[in-house]
Formats: sequence, C-alpha cells, structure tokens
Amino acid sequence: MDFLKRRLAEYIAANRYRRLQTVVERLDGRVVLADWEDQPLLDFSSNDYLALSQHPDLIKAGREALERYGAGVGAARLMSGDLTLFHQLEREIADLKGCPAALLFGSGYMANVGMIPALIGRGDVVFTDRLDHASIYDGCRLAGARLLRFRHNDLEHLESLLNKERGTGRALVVVESLYSMDGDIAPLVELVDLKKRHACMLMVDEAHATGIFGDQGGGLIQAAGLEGEVDVVMGTFGKALGSYGAYVAGSQDLRDYLINRARSFIYSTGLPPAVVGASLAAVRLVRDRLDLREQLAEKAAYFKECLKLEGLVGTPGPSQIVPVMVGDGGVALSLAEECCRLGLFATAVRPPTVPEGAARVRFSVTMHHRKSELAETARLLMGACRRLAISASF
Ligand SMILES: *Cc1c(COP(=O)(O)O)cnc(C)c1O
Repeated sequence: MDFLKRRLAEYIAANRYRRLQTVVERLDGRVVLADWEDQPLLDFSSNDYLALSQHPDLIKAGREALERYGAGVGAARLMSGDLTLFHQLEREIADLKGCPAALLFGSGYMANVGMIPALIGRGDVVFTDRLDHASIYDGCRLAGARLLRFRHNDLEHLESLLNKERGTGRALVVVESLYSMDGDIAPLVELVDLKKRHACMLMVDEAHATGIFGDQGGGLIQAAGLEGEVDVVMGTFGKALGSYGAYVAGSQDLRDYLINRARSFIYSTGLPPAVVGASLAAVRLVRDRLDLREQLAEKAAYFKECLKLEGLVGTPGPSQIVPVMVGDGGVALSLAEECCRLGLFATAVRPPTVPEGAARVRFSVTMHHRKSELAETARLLMGACRRLAISASF
C-alpha cells in the first residue's frame, strides 16, 4: 500500500493534511490539547454554541436514561431497538420544528446520506447550494440523481437552472439555513416561493440554526414564519443542542416513508438511551430559555464589534459563526497555529471544505465565552495578523 505514504506527502505539500487535535481536558470553555499541554486554550472551534453539552439538565437526563434502559438498545429500531423515549423525543423535536412528525437518525451525516436517496433517484434531479455540507453531497451521490449546483445563495442562478433543467421527474432543492463555514443565511422566503412555482421539494438543513434562532429556538424556518412550508427539515442534536444524533422533520407520511426507505435508519442500531435522554432535555431547554439565545446573540455581536474596532475590514455576518478570511490554506494554518500560541483554539478551514482561495480561520462564539475574553481575543488575533503580515477580512 505505497500509495498511502505518497498521498500523505502530497496532502502535506498542498497544505491539505489533516490531523487530530486531541483534547486532554475541558474546563469551562477552555480545552487542554495534547499538543499544547502547558496552556489551556480558549475554544473557538466548537459548535456547542449554548454550552449545553455541560449543562446539568442534560447530564442528569442522560444518566437517568442510561440507568433505566442500559448503555445500548442492542438492535435497529425496526427490530427490538425501539424505545418509547425515542418517540417522546420525536414528538418534542417535531413540535419545536413546527412539523407534524419527525424521525431520529444516528447522526446528521447518516440522516443526509439516508434520507436524500430515499426521496430521489435515477431520472430525478437535485439542486444544491455550492456550499452545502459534505453529507448532503454524499447523499446526492448515493441517490444517483442528476446533481446541479447553484452559486452560493444565488436565487437567479437557481431559477435559471430550474427553468432549464427541472425536467419532469421529481426535483429536490437542498440548502442549509445557516451556513456552517460562512455564518450567513439562506433566503428561505424566496426559496419557498421558488419551490412552489417549480413544483419541487425543498429540504433545509438546520444543523447550525436549531437552538439559536426563532422564538422557541426552532431555527431560521421558525424565525421566518415558514413552519409547515418546507417539505423536509433536517437538523442535528450534536451542535447547539449539546448532545448527539439527528432528526428529519416533516409530514407523518414523510416519517412513515423514511422508516420504510432510508437505509441508514433501517440498517443501523438505535441511538444509545443516554444520548436520547440528553437530547430530550436539550430540546426542552432551548424551547424555554429565550434568554440563552439572546445572550449568545449579544456576545456574537460584541465579538464582531471588537474585531471591527481592532481593524478587521468587511461586513460582519448575522450569526455566532465568524469566519476570518485569509485566502490561502497555508496562511490559514499559520494563523491558527499562532492563535494556539496566544491561547486561542480556532480551526483553519481549507479546501476542499471551502472553495480554493477561500481559506479562513473560523471562530464560533459560544455561551462559554465572557465578554472580556472576546475583547482580548479580538486584540490578540488582530495583533497576530499584523505581526504575520496577513490581510484578513470578515
Ligand atoms: C455537522 C453537520 C451535519 C452532520 O451532522 P452530525 O450530527 O455532526 O453528523 C450535517 N449538515 C450540516 C450542515 C452540518 O453542519
């Protein structure tokens, strides 16, 4: 297997080599990494936006489910692995998303690679935003449908593709509501209008928006008043909800159909009870705690304000995800490394995760961060950019 060594050397040369950053310990928003043992780093790379992964309610609910049902369910849900606890979570997440029904999946990745091929196949066509998540692309590839990618958030481009390529089979448009690497938002109202005019299905991935936007934390569909207008709503419990696993929400028929057709649901063991218990506690928390969302929004706005004051140019985005754009993959790597030296852990995001020339260091603001830490981070980050002669922007 000589190709392994050869390929790895190529990745290193192209600044595309990925390696694990092992966390030895987590301390209230800081991580001790195996590579930087002597200094805890303030963590800006986590999607645990509301700090729920450490919340006592989740830990207690997880422990209770673990003790009541055991460590695992021992089978797929269509065998003997279905618990009432799963149905309870499905009921409550469906309500949170304003949909009649929901179905749990092992993870967001599994939801997308299982659900998309269940909905479309050969002879059909799928339209995706260029910046859609890898799991969406993998689902489309598995589906075998014709794949057409439109420019990021470009409705005119999407419409021209729909006019030319819609065809007569089934058609699916897939977007994210909040884009994970750019922190910007899809034009959902216009997309719902487009999908109606072109008789398509619309799927919205709310992985990064659930728990963050909307009166009850339902996400950007809820915030836009579009509940019931999107055919397929997907999201994960692994980000703002602080747990693990995922769901697809929609009609009762969609749920029943996916139980029959989504292979990643059918052929995989049900989620561990502790995880489902923690997710249920998280859904209840985000529903009832508007104050957490408000505080997070305030912290994110404050961080962007600080970056601006320190001289970062551009237009700050609307969310808790703050990409500091540097362009080149190697530059992103050296800036991220300099950040570690300064006590800040933020991820260098490089191609192929983002387009060529659009490498960045991604900062996500979470409830773990204090305002004083955010101000200090902005100061240190912009100081590093000046020292390394990096011209960065929002
Ligand atoms: C993280 C993510 C997923 C995958 O979810 P997991 O539960 O982590 O597998 C899917 N879609 C988007 C947009 C994501 O950001």
